[in-house]
Amino acid sequence: MTTSAEFRYGVPQAQDWNALTDDAFRALVRDDFETHYPVAQRFPPRRLRWSENKDWYLRLAAKGWIAPAWPVEYGGMGLSPSKLLVYFEEQERCGMMRFQDHGILMVGPVLMKYGTEAQKRQYLPGILSCDAIWCQGYSEPNSGSDLASLSTRAVRDGDDFVITGQKIWTTLAHDATHMFALVRTDPDAKKQEGISFLLLDVHSPGVRVRPIRDIAGTEEFCEVFLDGVRTHHTNLVGELNRGWTVAKSLLGFERIFLGSPKLPEYGLLVLESLARARGLLDDPVFNDRFMSLKLDVAHLADIYGHYAAIVSRGESLGQDVSLLKVWASETFQRVADLVVETAGPLGGLSGNVSIGDETLNPLATFYKARVPTIYGGTSEIQRNILARQVLDLPG
Ligand SMILES: Cc1cc2nc3c(=O)[nH]c(=O)nc-3n(C[C@H](O)[C@H](O)[C@H](O)COP(=O)(O)OP(=O)(O)OC[C@H]3O[C@@H](n4cnc5c(N)ncnc54)[C@H](O)[C@@H]3O)c2cc1C
Repeated sequence: MTTSAEFRYGVPQAQDWNALTDDAFRALVRDDFETHYPVAQRFPPRRLRWSENKDWYLRLAAKGWIAPAWPVEYGGMGLSPSKLLVYFEEQERCGMMRFQDHGILMVGPVLMKYGTEAQKRQYLPGILSCDAIWCQGYSEPNSGSDLASLSTRAVRDGDDFVITGQKIWTTLAHDATHMFALVRTDPDAKKQEGISFLLLDVHSPGVRVRPIRDIAGTEEFCEVFLDGVRTHHTNLVGELNRGWTVAKSLLGFERIFLGSPKLPEYGLLVLESLARARGLLDDPVFNDRFMSLKLDVAHLADIYGHYAAIVSRGESLGQDVSLLKVWASETFQRVADLVVETAGPLGGLSGNVSIGDETLNPLATFYKARVPTIYGGTSEIQRNILARQVLDLPG
């Protein structure tokens, strides 16, 4: 740990949460969320924009609860894997939607591992206070699964790097203040070896953000055009041309988060409300399928706890973490499929529908379940990794 005594990241923790029993911690978190999380924002059918949910997340930031998995020394809650699961489960129980948390989930952990002391001091406080909202500039129009083929260039000019190119599918870039981006700094090297990891201010001259409308009619991701954008050379994270190593470690953090049981648990809650509204909770055929999915989600929570424990011991995740992402995303799809089927003909309608005493949006759950098998590396790519790098099958 390189933090010095006189510098404090974030808000001090009110107590050592890990000293509580899981049940006591759950009661405390549940009471806080139930009391304070706005009812109007529970179980939204789409991802909320920063202008819509910032009051809640600024409250969490002020309380020191914005980074549950970060070590206490860096301003996080320092939760153990079991407490982290409790925290996520309670967020899910009250229908709390993720915010634009790429700072907390991705660039923060990267800076803790690869950042200089100056970078940590410059950027971690803004992430913890939510003054800085980050987006992820990895994918390009011709580089998604084959990310290492990316062509956005960065050229050193005096004290700056000058970036030119295009990113795409950049989640909530229109709300972001900063981007962490993969850029090509040596076009002559082998493709993985000429890439660097740069931080930039989204409000710099030369950045243009254009939202993309998706099938559900919402605008959650964007194209980002970078035309001669300057960023100071001290915004290089890790070594020049060694950004692929940084990117891979970030993908590890991303895969464990994307493997959390949060989304399938959310799907089960929707399914249960729907079944209640349709009077199916005592139906043995429905219950057979419902219980089977519940068991799948329980197994997922178990294995998630196993990987979260590895991370909390400070150890690196192996390539086998890919199975977590496949299991989580595909389980969510199975749950969402049953949601639409259980809704019957109403499952095909967009927007809220009234079923029994409930107002629900089954199609939104179905749409929500399409994307996790794509972002963070598609299921096909995860299976390739498992086949080649874990099972050692011929490629
Ligand atoms: C909701 C959402 C949010 C996103 N947010 C971000 C973000 O914030 N920042 C960012 O940088 N990116 C983001 N992405 C982009 C995401 O990472 C890419 O969509 C993903 O990596 C796939 O790349 P692609 O879309 O170019 O598809 P392609 O790579 O063109 O793949 C198309 C199809 O071919 C298959 N395929 C490709 N190569 C192989 C192979 N070798 N073997 C077997 N099958 C293969 C894929 O599995 C897929 O089914 C987001 C995507 C979505 C859907």
